[in-house]
Amino acid sequence: MRIAVGGFQHETNTFAPSKADYAAFEQADSWPALQRGEPLLSAFTGMNVPIAGFIDRASAGNTLLPLVWCSATPSAHVTEDAFERIMGMMLEDLRAAGPVDAVYLDLHGAMVTEHFDDGEGEILHRVRAVIGPDVPLVASLDLHANVTERMVAEADALIAYRTYPHVDMTETGARAAEHLFALLKSGTRQAKAMRRLDYLIPLTAQCTLIEPASSLYALVGETEGKLMGNGRVTSVSFTTGFPPTDIPECGPVIIAYGDTEAAAEEAAERIAQAGRAAEAAFSEKLWSPCDAVAYAIANAAPGKGPIVLADTQDNPGAGGNGDTIGILAELIAQDAQNAAIAVLFDPECAARAAEAGEGAQVHLALGAKTGGAPEERPVEGVFEVMRVTDGEFLATGPFYGGSRMSLGTTVRLRKGGVQVVVASRKGQCADKEMICHTGLDPRDLAILAVKSSVHFRADFGPMASEVLVVESPGPNIADLTKLPFTRLRPGLRVTPLGKAFGS
Ligand SMILES: [Zn+2]
Repeated sequence: MRIAVGGFQHETNTFAPSKADYAAFEQADSWPALQRGEPLLSAFTGMNVPIAGFIDRASAGNTLLPLVWCSATPSAHVTEDAFERIMGMMLEDLRAAGPVDAVYLDLHGAMVTEHFDDGEGEILHRVRAVIGPDVPLVASLDLHANVTERMVAEADALIAYRTYPHVDMTETGARAAEHLFALLKSGTRQAKAMRRLDYLIPLTAQCTLIEPASSLYALVGETEGKLMGNGRVTSVSFTTGFPPTDIPECGPVIIAYGDTEAAAEEAAERIAQAGRAAEAAFSEKLWSPCDAVAYAIANAAPGKGPIVLADTQDNPGAGGNGDTIGILAELIAQDAQNAAIAVLFDPECAARAAEAGEGAQVHLALGAKTGGAPEERPVEGVFEVMRVTDGEFLATGPFYGGSRMSLGTTVRLRKGGVQVVVASRKGQCADKEMICHTGLDPRDLAILAVKSSVHFRADFGPMASEVLVVESPGPNIADLTKLPFTRLRPGLRVTPLGKAFGS
């Protein structure tokens, strides 16, 4: 079989300050730079990326025809220029490839461009226009996809991740390949069904390591392959959605495919019912820094593992700079003991502390330098320099595991019972080596604050005695009612059990 493979990934937060231009897609970030032509086929080997799983599964016995693949860090809209240039390449390569038996695309599913609300719907539509109605077109999607009716109509199958933290990206690409081979083998079309949930799920509540998402995804996995409605359910996906996207089709979606229409419909309805029933369980408590720190001081117990405070609004993986000081200031003010926060981005303080050297007492104005929370002032005072490192180490947790991290000059500071890991580069604290490499074992702490929303749970979840999601200053707004939505569909509840938009 001749299978064209490509990808175009963006998660668009329409409220974010800056757009994704062509350069943002062209350069590497935590994922590779734009790939095109033959190098694409080997660029992802061994990485946790959907296209890696697809290529690995599909390469034997098939001819893979590389298109373009690119991604950019989450931001506001993809510029019209970037979208048109990248689609120009993708379609040019697809036409040049000649007749193909199938197309696989590695997409995110929450792309909004300057000129289209539904970036992926437009991508799939344009690819479909080249290959015609009969060639199978399959795409993998992020769990945070805002799936649209047009995407479902244009693709033969959309296959989404089932984990958040996303530890199954490669596996999802492989599942997309399996599904595509089944389609090619049967030579028939699958019936499709789609359901929407009528409420947005806050990102921190979408974590699949905790309820209710954990049980919902177990049900998704268990429903796939089942005999229902006189046929077999061939694929089920549940995308919990990317909430900060101000478009009518924002929100959670269930997509099911089956041998018969009844199979697809029954499967989709089964998950949708469970999703509707889970609405109350998806509402989460957000803690103020003051209450969270007070609770953690009162409830931390030796030997039980730290109470982990998720500093979600300043998560560098979601637009934060990792330098707001709401929780740090509160830990110091309440005189927390055996507490730490990681990783604070402050190259200037890291350099000064490193220069002073281990054991030195140094007067610093720490954090709050980049304007992520304009109302904040740095934490001023004398800090003891506990450790100085070059910030180079190997991540070992399930999310970043295997990546070589380089945080630049990194220091661990102490003021009273509060320690701070300060780095020269931004990084979401989602791997315990980010702390361990400074000589501090987070398992021994009473209180640990991390600049992360959900990905930290992969490595820190098992050691935590409890996790509190804290609404400390930062640009990644956790309380969705505080986002100035104007374009959601009427009736959609902006939070679980919350007020309907437009009412
Ligand atoms: Zn995601």
